[in-house]
Amino acid sequence: MAESKKDYYEILGVSKDADDAALKKAYRALAKKYHPDTNPGDTAAAEKFKQASEAYSVLSDPDKRRQYDQFGSAAFDGSGGAGGFGGFDFSGSDMGDIFGDIFGDIFGGGRRSAQYNGPLKGANIRTSIRISFEEAIFGCEREIEINFKEECASCHGSGAKAGTSPVTCPKCNGKGKIMYTQQSFFGQIQNVQTCPDCGGTGKVIKEKCPDCYGTGYITKRKKIKVTIPAGIDNGQSVRLAGAGEPGTNGGERGDLLVEAVVSNHPIFKRQDTSIFSTVPISFAKAALGGTILIKTVDGDVEYEVKSGTQTDTKVRLKGKGVPTLRNRAVRGDHYVTLVVSVPERLTEAQKEALKSFDEAMNGNPDSDKHKKKGLFK
Ligand SMILES: [Zn+2]
Ligand SMILES: [Zn+2]
Repeated sequence: MAESKKDYYEILGVSKDADDAALKKAYRALAKKYHPDTNPGDTAAAEKFKQASEAYSVLSDPDKRRQYDQFGSAAFDGSGGAGGFGGFDFSGSDMGDIFGDIFGDIFGGGRRSAQYNGPLKGANIRTSIRISFEEAIFGCEREIEINFKEECASCHGSGAKAGTSPVTCPKCNGKGKIMYTQQSFFGQIQNVQTCPDCGGTGKVIKEKCPDCYGTGYITKRKKIKVTIPAGIDNGQSVRLAGAGEPGTNGGERGDLLVEAVVSNHPIFKRQDTSIFSTVPISFAKAALGGTILIKTVDGDVEYEVKSGTQTDTKVRLKGKGVPTLRNRAVRGDHYVTLVVSVPERLTEAQKEALKSFDEAMNGNPDSDKHKKKGLFK
């Protein structure tokens, strides 16, 4: 036998016991790499693409794979057959599915979905609502109004005028798709296109329903209650199952996704479940210590400042942060930065008091500390 035997497993780079998913993955990678569209004029790439396609089409078919495992590639060479593919049937109907599946994925084509006529879930609808910082933290209920598409009551979704019904599309004979054969590089490929006349439904409407203009749907404004969970963050969405677009061919409705747009707070900043804020304290309070009030999302909290507190001291208020979405009882912390503020305007009496304080300190920022270091007398 002059012709060298092809090892389909080797061509795809998979083991002999590779499952469907592994085959598909390997072929997809090769097809993407060597596809003629991405390698124009490259005959070596074209040859690799051909080989990989041949290998995949044989190994992905359980019957052909069995034959191949038993007899080798000779079983598909079709001795003396025309062209590189010999007796191998590339225009077989199942190839349409293989390529539709794989190339649909790789090249973003809608071939797969165009062929699909079963129940299809409706599209999701996205909307957003603005909520306050506190509403995001503690959750809230809102009512929103959306355009809600429903089956038309007059024609029950058929789109045809009362007393008439849709007729079989003459262009595609009710199939909803049109097949055409394309000459390609490795033989003929059958392509499938959604019928342009009926849009894939296989039916056309002669007399349109006047209530829905033949669309089969009526759009109404509908009020929907949205529960925003405690702890939601800016940009996160609440999903309302079944409040999206209606499905087709008996498919379920899509979902409504409501995105929370959270307003900034004048005092608090948030990161995940932590809240941050800055609290000014007077110099006297920082030096002497004492009780201060710190604003939190739960209201004012008393905090005991230690004497000798320096500016930029960080304080953690445990459990005063944002509730976690999973359990609102579990909360993050609130981090406070204490900033010692220097008064900008002083009365004469205040100035005098400060001067005598300064004299008592011998003009040193911290007499004790610096004396110890020997920097001052
Ligand atoms: Zn109607
Ligand atoms: Zn049609």
